[in-house]
Amino acid sequence: MIFRASVLTLYPDIFPGPLGTSLAGRALEEGTWSLETKNIRDFATDKHRSVDDTPAGGGAGMVLKPDVLAAALDSVADHRPMLALTPRGTPLTQERVRGLAAGEGVVLLCGRFEGFDERIFEARAVEPVSVGDYVLSGGELGAMVILDACVRLLPGVMGAASSGEEESFEQGLLEYPHYTRPVTWEGRTIPEVLRSGDHAKIAAWRHERAVEDTRLRRPDLIERHGGASQAPPSGAQRKK
Ligand code: SAH
Repeated sequence: MIFRASVLTLYPDIFPGPLGTSLAGRALEEGTWSLETKNIRDFATDKHRSVDDTPAGGGAGMVLKPDVLAAALDSVADHRPMLALTPRGTPLTQERVRGLAAGEGVVLLCGRFEGFDERIFEARAVEPVSVGDYVLSGGELGAMVILDACVRLLPGVMGAASSGEEESFEQGLLEYPHYTRPVTWEGRTIPEVLRSGDHAKIAAWRHERAVEDTRLRRPDLIERHGGASQAPPSGAQRKK
């Protein structure tokens, strides 16, 4: 089964962009996933091909018209989940990405200007999703974020070297820090435990650092996982 992505955008030329390079690009060439873009403007019906109009109630900017958005969504709708990029949406998580990557693909609706007429969320099974607490000028970069995160999880894309199981967010923790040669660089030496060859000790150290760094940088992750993330991985003895 191939993961099929359909992107609805006013700027289809932006794609594949970075998704055409490196891991995602190779997987696209090899047919592990497919990428279709549709120009929302092609679904406008008036002679000016307008996709937006002024906001009801007044205010700055323009709002994407629900009839045009619906026609665009209907043109690609099948069993795949439909996500609309908006800062008002549910924040994207690695868990959600895993769920999406395990499915048939995804339909992504990219906003511009002030965003979507809210009625599209009632009239169609489209879920608002955010890629973070900041405002972009368009949904396209967000769509690329979602696709990049999904594609690297598709079977065969990352290769055996990286199962992704130990990565940030997978256990409700940030990943432990990494080091590589040279052993000493600018007077800083790689932590000795990592050079000890003692796998249990290394696993315990990595877990401790993961917990410590998560506490420091992302206490919200610890909170969200109810502290369960503090349990060390099996086989790792925690030094007291
Ligand atoms: N007026 C809107 C922001 C519009 S930004 C508001 O305040 O909520 C224009 C478009 O960029 C949006 O329609 C959306 O598709 C995209 N966008 C901006 N920030 C985003 C974010 N954090 N996550 C996902 N999409 C975003």
